[in-house]
Amino acid sequence: SEERSLNFIEHIIEEDLKNGYSKSELCFRFPPEPNGYLHIGHASSICLNFGLGIKYNAPVNLRFDDTNPAKEEQEFVDAIKRDISWLGYTWANECYASDYFQQLYDWAVQFIKDGMAYVDSQSSEEIATQKGTPNTPGTASPFRNRSVEENLELFEKMKNGEVEEGAHVLRAKIDMASSNMLMRDPVMYRVLNKHHHRTGTDWKIFPMYDWTHGESDYIEQVSHSFCTLEFLPHRELYDWFLDQVYDKNKLRPKQREFARRNLSHTVVSKRKLLKLVQEGVVTGWDDPRMPTIAGLRRRGYTPDSIRNFADSIGVGKRENLIDVSHLEFNVREDLNKKASRVMVVLDPVKLVITNYPEGETEWLETENNPEDETAGMRKIPFSKELYIERDDFLEEANRKFFRLTLGKEVRLKSAYIVKGESVVKDVEGNITEIHCTYDPDSKSGSGTEASLRKVKGTLHWVSIKDALPVEVRMYDRLFTEASPDTQKDKDFMEFVNPNSLEVITGYAEPSLKEINEGDHFQFQRLGYFVVDRDSTSENKVFNRTVPLRDSWAK
Ligand code: ATP
Ligand code: MG
Ligand code: MG
Repeated sequence: SEERSLNFIEHIIEEDLKNGYSKSELCFRFPPEPNGYLHIGHASSICLNFGLGIKYNAPVNLRFDDTNPAKEEQEFVDAIKRDISWLGYTWANECYASDYFQQLYDWAVQFIKDGMAYVDSQSSEEIATQKGTPNTPGTASPFRNRSVEENLELFEKMKNGEVEEGAHVLRAKIDMASSNMLMRDPVMYRVLNKHHHRTGTDWKIFPMYDWTHGESDYIEQVSHSFCTLEFLPHRELYDWFLDQVYDKNKLRPKQREFARRNLSHTVVSKRKLLKLVQEGVVTGWDDPRMPTIAGLRRRGYTPDSIRNFADSIGVGKRENLIDVSHLEFNVREDLNKKASRVMVVLDPVKLVITNYPEGETEWLETENNPEDETAGMRKIPFSKELYIERDDFLEEANRKFFRLTLGKEVRLKSAYIVKGESVVKDVEGNITEIHCTYDPDSKSGSGTEASLRKVKGTLHWVSIKDALPVEVRMYDRLFTEASPDTQKDKDFMEFVNPNSLEVITGYAEPSLKEINEGDHFQFQRLGYFVVDRDSTSENKVFNRTVPLRDSWAK
């Protein structure tokens, strides 16, 4: 296998191993907030953390960062677990920040006793105003010097739900003049009278992210806590909180940052994806147009294609926009190896072979997948009347048109060579039938001289009397703009592509009667398609994963 050089995250770990960490101390985590479904941006973080776990044979915890009952739900917990498993990763422990509420609370009480935290009874607006600006020191809260006793009493009331939401918060007493705004007495707890998906109504106070995250890492003895770059200024606070609780005999976690990955022609933010769901722009979190893992799965993406994509973009220190074509490239690569080839005509026109016997059906052999020797062969019916794609025929064409024209020959895939003879048109001049003749000696694979004759084009086709009509959902990009959420003075919703879905009827070879949800196919010369869960025995539904760039005519 190909050795790639270490990325900067691996360099950090290698340095630590040189400077005294033992391999057995390494531990990583992936910490989603269960407030939505995982998206392709999360896949980068998942592949990074779980990839490190595999590389260093170290545990990786799945930690739900569930500290905001207003936005979190069990449905999202379940979806996150399903998606990580589907990607092929196994977590060492399923953890919840909410499991640490008691420990966090006990520490917070100790903070109060040590004079390092106080209850502030101002509104969040007042607190924000007093923080000042980065160049000027903030103003101390009038409650900053409350006595320990009063703080303990008020904090107890907050905990017991005896105060209204917003009446008080608990703040760490750090430095109102720090050049890092996050160090200006950050809020540790707020009161929320909401039902939590795991702790129910047990807790009325909920810890803030900064207070929770590092301490959770510490409790789990995570060695390296990798997060996205926007948390770089939080690192000082992460360390400050750890300083207060850290026991020297234990491992001290460190936060390090890597760049967020953005994908073009979509949005990777749960909040924005939720808006698409709530406003009915898509049918749900797993709509095949969504950049969620669940949406990509339903669209026909494979775990390997997503992992290969994440590996190929790697980890970086600078945020960038990855073109969606890169993701599409990876799924084509993977499905090219795995997907069975079938013939389906999506925009049919009738082709009549005038010299072929009436009423006859011939069963022809064709390969399931030329990229996979083990995939075998199957039989497809051939008859006098076929469908071909409308755009595979032109009455008159120049020499670069390698499809069917009058007076020229093409091969019908795995069948015969046919020659265009005449057309039948309706009153408006639209072609309703193409008449052709076939060369009976030219059957594919027969080894005859006629069968070996070189013709420029090969077309896919289906026998009309044997064809299975199927529903085909032709998906396109959800947004018309490469970066819809960074356009000046414009909301990302303005760039929703009104033509991101077209539903058509295709005509498939009859082998597609026997299919299961999630089966992948290459509709030859058209693209990769997957069987949708909306399929029934009467109505097969396919989602277009991605069109094929190349036809057989290479
Ligand atoms: P969102 O804005 O979509 O809610 P988030 O960062 O708030 O994203 P979390 O559930 O907190 O979502 O994310 C879990 C982990 O995934 C975090 O470590 C976060 O940094 C990482 N992550 C989220 N989005 C991306 C992205 N686009 N690229 C790389 N990592 C990401
Ligand atoms: Mg987050
Ligand atoms: Mg978020």
